[in-house]
Amino acid sequence: MQRPSTVRKERDVNSNLRHANHTVYVGAGSNMANRLDNLRKAVELLNRLPRTSVKKTSAVYLSEPLGFSSQGWFYNAVFELRSALKPETFLVHCKRIECLMGRPADHMKWGPRIIDLDILLYDDSTCSQEHLTIPHPELSNRKFVLLPLLDLANPTHPLLGKTMRELLETCPDTSSIERTGHTLLTIS
Ligand code: ADP
Ligand code: MG
Repeated sequence: MQRPSTVRKERDVNSNLRHANHTVYVGAGSNMANRLDNLRKAVELLNRLPRTSVKKTSAVYLSEPLGFSSQGWFYNAVFELRSALKPETFLVHCKRIECLMGRPADHMKWGPRIIDLDILLYDDSTCSQEHLTIPHPELSNRKFVLLPLLDLANPTHPLLGKTMRELLETCPDTSSIERTGHTLLTIS
């Protein structure tokens, strides 16, 4: 029979693990080279991060580019992850994956990209620094984020107090978007 102190210790460890499991929603977009492969590669690389796993992926959406309209249309998707990484560390890994996949560090904002990974939500946490703003500041303004996110869940925006579905109803984005038949790799 286990001594009470051992039992308590195990419970503490378990509860630490539970608390370490943050739910992170990542928005991904690609409009260069093989866009579908790029999204799939991003899922694979995110899933390989330490103490992190990709739980669900949305459908793939084809969306009109915002900003420079001469660039190609985007494939967009949202991934739901569990991670023990802190938001700052998670961001560093996202940027490293973008770089690894060939996105130049001095890329043009709003311009074409192999892969863009944005942290949309991290539990109910908020953070408002320029290099890391959570929830993502454009979340409520972009259908190509709200629609795929709604494939996975309907969380409440921790600052606006509205669900993603409610935000979609008032979303000012009038650009074209359609759901493709493509699916991303299922992680086992
Ligand atoms: P965008 O995603 O708007 O097209 P970038 O990918 O070039 O632009 O990101 C510009 C900067 O936004 C990054 O250097 C990053 O530090 C910052 N940033 C702030 N908040 C976030 C977030 N939630 N997720 C990802 N990047 C963020
Ligand atoms: Mg980005």
